[in-house]
Amino acid sequence: MTNEVQTKVDKLYNEVCSSVEQGAFPHGVLVECQNERDGELFARFIANCLVCRGHNKPCGVCQDCIKAQGKGHPDIFETDGKKGKSNTFSVDAVRDVRDDAFIVPNESDKKIYILKNGQNMNEQAQNAILKILEEPPSYVFFVIVTTSKSTMLETVLSRVQVFSLLSDEEQITDKELAIVKNMVTAILNVNEIDLMEQTAVFLKNNQLAKTILGLLTEVFRDALVKKSGFERDFRFMQESEKVSNSLTAKSLMQLITVCDDLIKSIDRNCNNNLLVVRMCYEFKRAMGR
Ligand SMILES: [Zn+2]
Repeated sequence: MTNEVQTKVDKLYNEVCSSVEQGAFPHGVLVECQNERDGELFARFIANCLVCRGHNKPCGVCQDCIKAQGKGHPDIFETDGKKGKSNTFSVDAVRDVRDDAFIVPNESDKKIYILKNGQNMNEQAQNAILKILEEPPSYVFFVIVTTSKSTMLETVLSRVQVFSLLSDEEQITDKELAIVKNMVTAILNVNEIDLMEQTAVFLKNNQLAKTILGLLTEVFRDALVKKSGFERDFRFMQESEKVSNSLTAKSLMQLITVCDDLIKSIDRNCNNNLLVVRMCYEFKRAMGR
């Protein structure tokens, strides 16, 4: 971790402490972190703060803290949702968590569920978790750990507070995320009007265009990987899946080339108007229209 990221993460740890002290901690949080171990440590810290009965949470000396730190607290649950050989976070695992959540806590006055590998939750699993995030029992707290918030459905994101342990470069802003999602839909539907609407913001900001083209490349590349049968963690899981199901490998490769060419012309300081026009035209062409 760089110093800059470390300072940011330290701040987040403090934010958790004070929010728990004030009794204002949200029932659903998402921890965004590229490094699985760091994300899980942060999630366990949240759980520890929530069960601590001392002052200056986590006090480190109360029975709850001792049990939480020894990973033996009966009201803190961790799961990666894997069932059998599959790597995905299964919908059955989410249902187990949901059923368990309605049973009152054992020792603490709270129950915390740490859901690891959030990036491996498919749409069905996320919709299942959404149901309980909408109306959780008053004593229940969910901490979802994922590599990027872009792996989550917008409906889930609207129900959680995001704690991002990513550096500024790694982090995708809400604005960028929305543009990528909308552009993927517009490209798949070959909807020229939507495409023009989404790309209009690039007229005044070609660096944003460059970022978005980079993210789109990631979506198309991951879709191609998915097509060849490889399953791994994709940052834009839903988008990559949609694109992979709808497009041929040939179209995907064309789209990747288009993004690459457009990024090169931004680096050559091309005219922004021309860039946007070309972008719409080239995407349409790659889609065979
Ligand atoms: Zn304590």
